[in-house]
Amino acid sequence: MGRVFGSRHKTRWPEKKSEDKPVEEILKELRKHIPVSAGDYRERSLKIHGLICAKCGREFEQKDKHLLTVHHKDGNHMNNPANGSNWENLCVYCHDDEHSRGLLGDYLRGPKKG
Ligand SMILES: [Zn+2]
Ligand SMILES: [Zn+2]
Repeated sequence: MGRVFGSRHKTRWPEKKSEDKPVEEILKELRKHIPVSAGDYRERSLKIHGLICAKCGREFEQKDKHLLTVHHKDGNHMNNPANGSNWENLCVYCHDDEHSRGLLGDYLRGPKKG
């Protein structure tokens, strides 16, 4: 009398260990090594030096901070040390004045004509 019921065990596969990291992980890793990007230096400079014009001393509020621009002391926009040593916060008026010689006037006015 031997009725044997074969019980079916589900085969357990080991957890798949993928060598591929998720994209988010890779991005996280990358960000650690990326220096201050061109778009970030303005926020950084405002944070370091405060919302105040280094030339005329005019103070700005968060809502007006677009009137405050970051001037590169050595004129090199690619030189963005994280400690802000090459940055100076200038209001648009003073910044314009600073560049009134026409050297970097385009930088302020942007690509727009006028
Ligand atoms: Zn100013
Ligand atoms: Zn400037």
